[in-house]
Amino acid sequence: MITVVDVNTDRTLDDFAAHAPLKRPVEDLRAVAQQYADRLGDRTVWMVNSTAQGGGVAEMLPKVVSMLRELGVSTEWAVIVSEEDRFFQLTKHLHNLLHGAGDPHISEDDRALYRSVSEQMAERLARRVAPGDPVVVHDPQPLGTGALLQETMDVPSVWRCHIGLDATNDATEAAWDFLRPWAEAYDETVFTLREYVPDFLEDRADLIQPALNPLSPKNRTLSVTELSSVLRRARLSGSPHPTMEGDFASPARRLQRNGSFAPATRPDDLGLMERPIITQISRWDRLKGFAPLLQGFARLKDSRFMDRNAVSERDRYRLSLSRLVLAGPDPDSVSDDPEGQEVFDEICRLWHDLPPEIQRDVAIITLPMASRRVNSLMVNALQRCSTIIAQNSLREGFGLTVTEAMWKRRPVMGTHAAGLREQVKDGVHGRRIPKAEDPEGIAHTLHEMLNTEAERKRWARNARRRVSERYLVFTQVRRWLEVLAQTVDRQAAVSVDGHATTNDPTDA
Ligand code: UDP
Repeated sequence: MITVVDVNTDRTLDDFAAHAPLKRPVEDLRAVAQQYADRLGDRTVWMVNSTAQGGGVAEMLPKVVSMLRELGVSTEWAVIVSEEDRFFQLTKHLHNLLHGAGDPHISEDDRALYRSVSEQMAERLARRVAPGDPVVVHDPQPLGTGALLQETMDVPSVWRCHIGLDATNDATEAAWDFLRPWAEAYDETVFTLREYVPDFLEDRADLIQPALNPLSPKNRTLSVTELSSVLRRARLSGSPHPTMEGDFASPARRLQRNGSFAPATRPDDLGLMERPIITQISRWDRLKGFAPLLQGFARLKDSRFMDRNAVSERDRYRLSLSRLVLAGPDPDSVSDDPEGQEVFDEICRLWHDLPPEIQRDVAIITLPMASRRVNSLMVNALQRCSTIIAQNSLREGFGLTVTEAMWKRRPVMGTHAAGLREQVKDGVHGRRIPKAEDPEGIAHTLHEMLNTEAERKRWARNARRRVSERYLVFTQVRRWLEVLAQTVDRQAAVSVDGHATTNDPTDA
C-alpha cells in the first residue's frame, strides 16, 4: 500500500525567523536556497519511507518536506507499507543485523520475498512519480523499491541510511551483503557519519546529520516561570503556593527506598533549581552507560575522593551539594522493550546498594510517555536546570539528547562513542571521558567540570553555537538541497554519457 502523506505546514520560515536567535539561520538558508531550487526546476522530490508515525524519520520528515516546499521545491512524502507480516519481520531482522545483533543467516525465501514485495511496491510508486523526479528512499525497508523503480524509470535516486554502527561483525556483514546490490543501484547515498559508510558506497556517500526543531516542545525556550511551572506540574519540584494550573495527568516518578515510585519531591525536594545537578536522560539501554555513571558519581561523593581531590572548602561544599539525576521513559510504557526493563531493574538495584548518604543525592526518575508533548516538556525542563549533561554512552549512533542539551547551553560530559565524538569536542563543548566503563575516570572528569565555572560557561556558549551552525533543521534542509541538486546533475551527466544503470540489482 502506498499513501501520500498530507503534510500540514504548521510553522513557516517566517515564524521561525520571528525568534531572534533563529533569524540568521533562516536568512542563511534562504540566501542559498534559490540556486538549488532553480537547479531542481519543476521536478517533484519524493521522500519515501515505511511509516507515517513513530520513530525519528517520521518525526523529522514533515518539517523537511514543508520547508523544501516553502523554498520553492515541490516535495511529496510517500509511505509504503507491505501487508505481508513476513516482510516486516525480515526488515526488522535486517535492522537488528545492521546494529550488529541477530542471526546472520538470511534464507533464500526471505531474499525472494524482499524482491517480490519490492517489485509490487515499485510498480505502485511508478504510477505516482514522473520521469526525472528525484526519489529519496529512507532506510532498508523501501530500499529495494527505489532500486527497482530506477530500473524502469529515469529517476535520480538517493538512499538515506539512518542506521549506523562503527564496528563490524558477522551480523553487520550479513546485512550489508544482503543490501549491497540494492544500495549500489542508487546514484547517491546519505549517512549520518563517515564511520558508518560501507566501503563499497564510498564513491557515492554524502553526510547529513540529524537536527533539532528549535521550536518543538522539547527544545523551545522556557521562560523562568514556564520552567518552574513544568517542574512543579511534573512533581519534579514542589511549591507551597497555590497555582493556576494543576499537575500533569501523570507526574514524573522517583525511586524510593522501599522500592516503590513516588513523585520526585519525595522523600525530599531534589533542589533542581538550586543545587549543582548532573543529568543523564536516555532510554534504559545498557549501551547508554547509566551503571558506570552512577558508580562514578558515587565515587565522586565518597569522602575519600573529596579528601584526596577537593582543593578548597568551597570545592568540597560544591561536591557535597551536587546531585545526579538519571531519567528515562517509564518502563511500563515501553512494553515492547523487555531489555529496557531489565536494565532499569539493574540500575535500581545499584541505587539500593548505595550508602544512604550518597543514595539521597542520586535520583532515579521515570518520565511518563502517555503524552509526547508533556514528556518533551519534562525533558526540556530537566535539561535546562542541569549544571552538566552527561551522556555516558558506550555506543551512540548520534545522540540527540546531547544536541538538545548543547542547544540549551549545557556543557556536556560525553564519551568517545562515534556520535558523541562528532558533536562534543573535548575541552571545547565539555569533556569527553576516555572510558565510558571506568567509574574512577568519570568521577575525576565530573569533579573537574564542576570545579571550573568559567570553563563551563565557555563550553556552554560554544555548545550553543555548534548546534546553531550545524544541527538545526535549517542546516539539514540546506544539506538536502545540496544533495538533491548534486544527484540530479550527476544523474543527468550519466544519462548523457549513456552509462545509466539498467542492470538487475541482484545480479551484482
Ligand atoms: N527521550 C525522551 N524521553 C525520555 C528519554 C529520552 O523524549 O524519557 C528522547 C531524547 O530527548 C532524545 C531521544 O529520546 O530526543 C533519544 O535520542 P538519542 O539519539 O539520544 O538516542 P536513541 O534513543 O535514539 O539511541
